[in-house]
Amino acid sequence: MKAQPTLITEKKPLLGLLPEELTEYCREIGEPRYRAQQIFRRLYAADAEVRVAEFAAMSELPRALREKLTETAQLRALELVRLQESTDGTKKFLFRLVDGREIETVLIPSEIVEENGEPKRLTICVSTQVGCPLNCQFCATASLKLKRNLTTGEILDQFLTAQQYSTKPITNLVFMGMGEPMLNYDNVMKAVQIFTHESAQLLGPRRITLSTSGLVEGIKRMADENSPIKLALSLHATTDGLRTELMPINKKYNLQMLGNALEYYYRKTGSPITFEYILFEGVNDSDEDARRLQRITRRFPSKVNVIPFHPIDFTNPEGIAKSLKPTSDAQFQSFIHRLRELDVTVMIRSSSGKDIHAACGQLALAKE
Ligand code: SF4
Repeated sequence: MKAQPTLITEKKPLLGLLPEELTEYCREIGEPRYRAQQIFRRLYAADAEVRVAEFAAMSELPRALREKLTETAQLRALELVRLQESTDGTKKFLFRLVDGREIETVLIPSEIVEENGEPKRLTICVSTQVGCPLNCQFCATASLKLKRNLTTGEILDQFLTAQQYSTKPITNLVFMGMGEPMLNYDNVMKAVQIFTHESAQLLGPRRITLSTSGLVEGIKRMADENSPIKLALSLHATTDGLRTELMPINKKYNLQMLGNALEYYYRKTGSPITFEYILFEGVNDSDEDARRLQRITRRFPSKVNVIPFHPIDFTNPEGIAKSLKPTSDAQFQSFIHRLRELDVTVMIRSSSGKDIHAACGQLALAKE
């Protein structure tokens, strides 16, 4: 593992500043505006070879400025504590933040490979909060409760540092790690602005997906702002009774409100919606569930990602969480078949990284 620079809190954090904010910072320290452009490019250049992790490597800056920046400003927001690799190539990163708190990030190669054997896509699953307040019963992160929101710099640095540990460029990003991204809307969207900025071009907007547990205000805000990124909704139940049991947020925003918000989003953006649906044995995997799922998803162009449940026994779950089990392979296939008969577009999400607790719903800083 490469050595990571130790984080020092009193310095000015530069990661997460928009070009105009970086220009303002340069003005404050008596530097011309083109220095801001040079620094921005060195932080976020599309070509990973151009990006650097320390000011000393910004060879186009005068030495005196490099030294001044090294003393007064901070380039990185995260310290890598541990990197684990699954037998399927998935990598899980444990990062320490400047306040000593920790988060996890996952890098997932697609199962589909190119002619040269390289994975077709490399997707990073990014965290947006330390822990999460929403208490979804199938999710390991919920056991941590909410500690705080991540800064824009901490969100960006998950991508930048993870890229350093992969020879293949990261092609896709999902806000689907620890936390509810809509509860940290401003910092998440500012990170999106930087990821997709024309002088950075780290990722195209259609390669970024925000996954929400269903915060109606956030969905409407994305619609009103005509956000160019994709939207996914964690549905997981087709009745309000069950969804409230599995995801308490459903008490505040029920299925009717969610459906209306998604329709509004589709009308405004013209962007199809992805539904995430984890299958739990005997809980949400019946033919009737498939029929209700079809009725919910047919209101606008959409697809359904069906996801196997990944047990979270390592968090010592209680109540309904304790009784959740993965659906059998036969029932899983039968459910998919039923949805396809009903003309629902279905994708099956794999269990990448299960052996290192990096699969969907398993992020909880488990001590390995
Ligand atoms: S599934 Fe998402 S929103 Fe729900 S508790 Fe886990 S991290 Fe939070």
